[in-house]
Amino acid sequence: MNSKFSEALREAGLRVTRPRVSVLEEISRRPHANAEKIRNGVIAQLGSVSTQAVYDVLHTLTAKGLLRKIEPAGSVPLYELANHDNHHHLVCRSCFTVIDIPCVVGSAPCLEPSDDHGYVIDEAEVTFWGYCPKCAKNRQKPTINAIK
Ligand SMILES: [Zn+2]
Ligand SMILES: [Zn+2]
Ligand SMILES: [Zn+2]
Repeated sequence: MNSKFSEALREAGLRVTRPRVSVLEEISRRPHANAEKIRNGVIAQLGSVSTQAVYDVLHTLTAKGLLRKIEPAGSVPLYELANHDNHHHLVCRSCFTVIDIPCVVGSAPCLEPSDDHGYVIDEAEVTFWGYCPKCAKNRQKPTINAIK
């Protein structure tokens, strides 16, 4: 089993299991994947695994800080390895393809509200929304000449 991920699991105080390592491997290969895609990847590696087992692994690894769960509005949750670099995401409104954007300003919380109302703020969640090149192209209205 991948020793990097086995070690990360042990450091997080978790037992090293094949499904856990396999989920981490799958997400490192395909960041911003949803549970279904992750499950398909795990099945390709391990033969079979239930949807519930995958959800359990994702929940545990997220709770222990090994995974970052991102939930763009209108999309199912997506997962990536948590590297705690406070990067942001650029999300396509149409196909939900997600791209990492390094923090524009610096470190967390990276943006300061004009008034913190006494809260101890540790994060500003910034999501950039738009259309990926492919979807932007498909959205272009056909001109009269193009419709023949
Ligand atoms: Zn798109
Ligand atoms: Zn990301
Ligand atoms: Zn930032």
